[in-house]
Amino acid sequence: MTSLLVSRRACVSVQVGSVHIGGQAPVAVQSMTNTDTADIAGTVQQVVELAQAGSELVRLTVNNEESAAAIPHIRERLDALNIAVPLVGDFHFNGHKLLTQSPACAEALAKLRINPGNVGKGAKRDTQFAQMIELACTYQKPVRIGVNWGSLDQELLSQMMDDNASAAQPLSTEALMQEAMIQSALSSATRAEALGLRHDQIILSCKVSGVQPLIAVYRELARRCDYPLHLGLTEAGMGIKGTVASAAALAILLQEGIGDTIRVSLTPEPGASRTQEVMVAQEILQSLGLRSFAPSVIACPGCGRTSSDIFQHLARDIQDYIRQRMPEWRARYPGVENMSVAVMGCVVNGPGESKHADIGISLPGNGESPAAPVYEDGERKTTLKGEQISQEFQALVEDYVSRRYGQ
Ligand code: SF4
Repeated sequence: MTSLLVSRRACVSVQVGSVHIGGQAPVAVQSMTNTDTADIAGTVQQVVELAQAGSELVRLTVNNEESAAAIPHIRERLDALNIAVPLVGDFHFNGHKLLTQSPACAEALAKLRINPGNVGKGAKRDTQFAQMIELACTYQKPVRIGVNWGSLDQELLSQMMDDNASAAQPLSTEALMQEAMIQSALSSATRAEALGLRHDQIILSCKVSGVQPLIAVYRELARRCDYPLHLGLTEAGMGIKGTVASAAALAILLQEGIGDTIRVSLTPEPGASRTQEVMVAQEILQSLGLRSFAPSVIACPGCGRTSSDIFQHLARDIQDYIRQRMPEWRARYPGVENMSVAVMGCVVNGPGESKHADIGISLPGNGESPAAPVYEDGERKTTLKGEQISQEFQALVEDYVSRRYGQ
């Protein structure tokens, strides 16, 4: 594990259940369910999956009476399963009513997310926002004031557009939108504090779906306040596009010390696991050297020296094996997340890279002797041959983990 590469921006620390966000705390990974929250069994199952994948907070939609009523039952079932992950309630439009009608929902949540663009229109806006904040104060729950440019406060934007039109040096439309988002977050936070919420009970976010606007907005937001910041590229998209766009945006900001908790908003493939967004978030933090979640698998890309697919299978199998073993390893073998495992395709870089890793294997390339030397801590330990190399290498990794990281 490399040492911390960046110095984090100074900000206050907010406690969300058992998790600290901001201050000196490591950047926290969070996720959001996509089940119907009223489906208690289905939602519990997905929260368990997300928590076991490493999500440190899980957000759930609370959009109607049924979902508000389900929240305390979801919390109870998770507690019975020893899943302590804090739950965050995502409220829009009717949060003031739902939380008033369901005190048990408010009690069971560790944090409330309020979107200032979606708390009501006209005169109702201020009243309903105040009701939400007063409920947060009553139940002593921190709040994320989460601005999203898809639901930006239209009254604030129109006012700013009018002012901008008569300004000596008007902002561009894009810059004005960004400024409106920042002002929406900051003025809502100021109002929340005036209503009684403590400074250290507020987290801010200003999410947009473009990489460059997101970087610009968060740099400015970070400059203008010391609230912890929830960072994420909203509506990142699917697969490679969503992963790369999220990594590009988040990496730049995290490297500048901006961001105290992150979410990767990937659209899953139909039927695919929701945990993918957790793994991507972890990989971003681990690639930057900010945190370690699981052993790193170092694999070469392969080339004309590896014409068989044994090498690709082996790299995939050991990656899958590590993911599958991590819930148990995490509990039994502290420090295992810092381990490096090399899977290399041939003699060109294989032995060297394998020696640099904690444990590594160098497969035979084209024309090489059909034997795969395995290295531990820089020393050649054994040589694997035959059809069972993948399983035998997994057994060697398991043995290495228990010897090196066992108490
Ligand atoms: S280690 Fe060998 S197989 Fe892998 S990329 Fe380098 S030359 Fe190709």
